[in-house]
Amino acid sequence: MQFFQFTEEQEMLRKAVREFVDSEVAPHAKEWDENDHCPVELFPLMGELGLCGVFIPEEYGGAGLGHTERAIVLEEISRHSAGLGIALMTHHLGVAAILYYGNEAQKQKYLPDLAAGKKVAGLSVTEPGGGSDFMGQKSTGEFKDGSWVLNGRKCFITNSHIAQVDVWTVVTGQDEKGRPIMTAFIIDGDTEGHAPGRKENKMGLRGSVTGDVICNNVKLAPEQMLSKEGAGAKIAMTTIQEVGRAGMSAICVGILRGCVEESVKFSSERILYGKPLNKIQAIQFMIAETRVELEAAKLLTYRAAGLKDAGLPCSTEFAIAKYYASEAAVRAARRTIDSMGGYGVINEYPVGRFLRDALASIPSGGTSQVQLLITAGATISGK
Ligand SMILES: Cc1cc2nc3c(=O)[nH]c(=O)nc-3n(C[C@H](O)[C@H](O)[C@H](O)COP(=O)(O)OP(=O)(O)OC[C@H]3O[C@@H](n4cnc5c(N)ncnc54)[C@H](O)[C@@H]3O)c2cc1C
Repeated sequence: MQFFQFTEEQEMLRKAVREFVDSEVAPHAKEWDENDHCPVELFPLMGELGLCGVFIPEEYGGAGLGHTERAIVLEEISRHSAGLGIALMTHHLGVAAILYYGNEAQKQKYLPDLAAGKKVAGLSVTEPGGGSDFMGQKSTGEFKDGSWVLNGRKCFITNSHIAQVDVWTVVTGQDEKGRPIMTAFIIDGDTEGHAPGRKENKMGLRGSVTGDVICNNVKLAPEQMLSKEGAGAKIAMTTIQEVGRAGMSAICVGILRGCVEESVKFSSERILYGKPLNKIQAIQFMIAETRVELEAAKLLTYRAAGLKDAGLPCSTEFAIAKYYASEAAVRAARRTIDSMGGYGVINEYPVGRFLRDALASIPSGGTSQVQLLITAGATISGK
């Protein structure tokens, strides 16, 4: 067992991202939330800084770093805007599907623009029939006259209205036992018949766009298939498990840090009984509880990211990290609001947004019940 510490390079990356966040994110986070605006205009700058392609190898224009560094990036951004955090984290989902399952031509075609932030990516899996029922998807892909023809509707898709590269899973047939054969495709956003649908007015994570994406007789060349027919379930599941839940855990670590920092700031400035609020032991205990939950969420998140970087099994670890970090972020935001008395519910302070962002993080990447099912399954089978 090694002592857990970030490397000097990782600390330097954190410092650089923090400088970017302090100048380009923190001053606007409240306005993005109020106006339900996703700052897509920041993608080229995030590309230049290596954040869009943090784990894309240098040969495809990325920063050539790993998933620990990606967690640092998402934590730092989400400290001030979990909305922008999920927009970038979902861009990484589309990137990961292409990087880990694409062929050389697909990687050459898509990754450089995605690394540069010239294009935004998305991963469209969830359907109105229920996100938890992954194998119940109804969207179809049919091979006709030399092309794949895709039809269906996806919902709750992050980057729905801003992604130019959209990875879809569809049912392309049934196996001998009648189970759906799931296949993944890369769709260029401007392909005829591919279009965003309704845009959701979310409670939290409002610095991101979430909505429907529709395929209406979208004709794709066979080269747009990712990996091979039937590989779609594996592609989507591993990407959601090891990149999606990883990202949501890091985002929630960012929200937890926001709670610690805001409660320390408020309680040292607020004077009650002639002295700072933080002299009251009950308030100190609230701050301490939030700090404990931040530290636990951080350890779980970065441990799982370290396993991913080492090429070791990490799906259960990410399910545990995502469950803990998102539920802890809700508890911490509620606790922070309580510790501020009446000021806690005044929108001038960011803590109400932290609570809404934390709540909206729970279903993203799979609900808490789904994380518990995965964790129970692994535990009972001795993994
Ligand atoms: C902000 C946001 C961003 C998102 N971004 C994306 C995206 O980019 N791409 C994408 O594909 N999807 C995305 N999603 C969708 C997300 O993955 C789904 O919301 C999630 O998987 C849950 O699916 P559902 O909403 O249909 O809920 P349902 O699956 O209908 O679940 C309803 C309830 O039933 C419970 N439940 C379901 N099955 C079980 C079970 N077996 N045992 C116990 N309880 C169960 C759930 O925990 C939940 O409480 C996003 C969602 C949100 C909120």
